[in-house]
Amino acid sequence: MAGILRILDQMYPGATCALHHRNPWELLVATILSAQCTDKRVNEVTPGLFAKYPTPRDFAAVRPEVLAVDIRSTGFFNNKAKSIVGAATRIVGEFAGEVPRTMEALLTVPGAARKTANVVLGTAYGIAVGVVVDTHVQRIAARLDLTKNSDPVKIERDLMKIVPREKWILFSHQIILHGRALCVARNPKCAECGLNSLCYARDKTA
Ligand code: SF4
Repeated sequence: MAGILRILDQMYPGATCALHHRNPWELLVATILSAQCTDKRVNEVTPGLFAKYPTPRDFAAVRPEVLAVDIRSTGFFNNKAKSIVGAATRIVGEFAGEVPRTMEALLTVPGAARKTANVVLGTAYGIAVGVVVDTHVQRIAARLDLTKNSDPVKIERDLMKIVPREKWILFSHQIILHGRALCVARNPKCAECGLNSLCYARDKTA
């Protein structure tokens, strides 16, 4: 594992979240919007969105069907609008308008499942509670033989055992970048990959 972490540091130094945000609330909204959507598209939508609705209170005051129009281009807009208005309502009502800082409290916020909560806690607050397991992390953890599980919760548990806690936040960002840049789902670019000599994936291309 140490070798993999060292190479990831060389390949992706200073990796961070690609979703633009100025505070934890904006990152929570951007992360909800990023489901089944590219970060690039989300980054196109959020500046106008946060200009129109600057605070959680503004989002809590809007009807989901109205917000859905503003976020239409990110797809699944009705569900996302419901989640965002629900999240804003809970954060304003229960947490004085501030995104909570614990996994337990965040999991009570609509739209914030464990993956989203890990993104917000890790990136916005610098609090390492777990490892973000998205589709890239699932695929690459399997390719690098870091887990035998396919369930995200179990994958996360496996990664938390082998990745040192101080690396959890950075590791998630590095793997997600790697999944976009080289270790893509089909035809990964193994010839260009620094992890090649440590990787025994069955679908390696070089
Ligand atoms: S060698 Fe290929 S499959 Fe293995 S981590 Fe690198 S890109 Fe992914």
